[in-house]
Amino acid sequence: MLQNYKFINRKQNQTTSKTNQQLFPIFATSKKYNKKSMTKVSDRLNRLAESATLAMARMSRELKAKGHDVIALSLGEPDFDTPDFIKEAAKKAIEDNYSHYTPVPGLPELRNAIVTKFKRDNNLEFTADQIVTSTGAKQSLANVCLSLLNPGDEVLLPCPYWVSYAEIIKLAEGVPVEVPSSIDSDFKVTPEELEAAITPNTKLLMFSSPCNPSGTVYTKDELEAIAKMLEKYPNIYVVADEIYEHINFTEGHFSMGTIPSMKERTVTVNGVSKGYAMTGWRVGFIGAPLWIAKACNKIQGQITSATCAIAQKAAETAMLANPKEVTTDMKATFLKRRDMILNELNNIEGIKCNIPQGAFYVFPDVSYYFGKSDGTTNINNANDFCMYLLNSCYVAFVAGDAFGNPECVRISYAAADDKLMEAMGRIKNQLAKLS
Ligand code: PMP
Ligand code: GLU
Repeated sequence: MLQNYKFINRKQNQTTSKTNQQLFPIFATSKKYNKKSMTKVSDRLNRLAESATLAMARMSRELKAKGHDVIALSLGEPDFDTPDFIKEAAKKAIEDNYSHYTPVPGLPELRNAIVTKFKRDNNLEFTADQIVTSTGAKQSLANVCLSLLNPGDEVLLPCPYWVSYAEIIKLAEGVPVEVPSSIDSDFKVTPEELEAAITPNTKLLMFSSPCNPSGTVYTKDELEAIAKMLEKYPNIYVVADEIYEHINFTEGHFSMGTIPSMKERTVTVNGVSKGYAMTGWRVGFIGAPLWIAKACNKIQGQITSATCAIAQKAAETAMLANPKEVTTDMKATFLKRRDMILNELNNIEGIKCNIPQGAFYVFPDVSYYFGKSDGTTNINNANDFCMYLLNSCYVAFVAGDAFGNPECVRISYAAADDKLMEAMGRIKNQLAKLS
């Protein structure tokens, strides 16, 4: 069933109505969303697309279950295990009977540890009542959108953006406003480009740096320039998603919320999933102006109560550890892999890459292959490109449409070196068959 989504593209100055099949072609093939079930569920659900990252991960698992040797580079999660000292803290929490509900925004000792982390790592000053921990940064983002957006409120999304941003905004009845960027500017948007997208309805600017999916890292100067522009618009709030903070190959991470004019207008989102290899523990958090923290607390109190008490104790231990000791080796491994994968991709005809400065993704432009065919399969867009490679050589990654850049694909390099090399070899051979 086709659903229409309102999307605004300020650069082309047009409001587009995209269907779910245009936006998320994977959605069209999903057996879960057949016509019969779509008539029963809410309009809200029908407006929502399945997460493109999770859909691709599901399809890879299905092919694997059929016996195919799939190399899944679709899901963004470290391939490392959670460090032992964090696991020990969780075991102790079980022994100590952390088996009860905790306060909605998290155990006081965890919130205090997060206050320490924000000050130590980011120079951000919060009190414990400005911290809300949630079931992953994904829930933190949802809490913020549900707390702040009224129907029709617009949210500026520099492209490319993480897949779930647009869907969470729509769930909160807001309108995602894409602000395009290009590979030639390292996928960065300028204050002028952002300003041109602002209207009286603009409520939020939401971005990640380091960016999922492009690996782009905004510098201090660039963020200060954006903040300067935003000073003219006191009703716009910023959601700074810093979940890849520790996987940053530049000089250092800079937090938007440290800029004095942004302090009362910035929600800093972070969590333990990426830097501490704890995706399955489900702990994310915000540091926010008190009234926003209170609003998120209220929403969360009706939805999940709080995240798991044992995971909270593990996260507390992670937050109090020296991040350099925990993350340095992992970061070095990611950097080595980034260089390896860029080297391989740059040797494939027609593929164009930026040099990601953080996270663990590359986001190449593959539009050179649009309009080509191997005689049986035609490649007309990034989704065809991904499905062609998945079905013919069993390498999975995610089409850029869901991230706001339909000429690109996202490849996660959070996988073992030999798997990455094998995947690159398969892709190169398979693409050579297209003309
Ligand atoms: N923000 C970004 C940019 C992400 O890539 C992710 C997914 N890993 C999240 C937020 C959510 O992270 P989690 O819910 O695992 O804490
Ligand atoms: N954030 C990760 C990704 O982008 C995990 C999957 C998800 O939560 O969407 O792949």
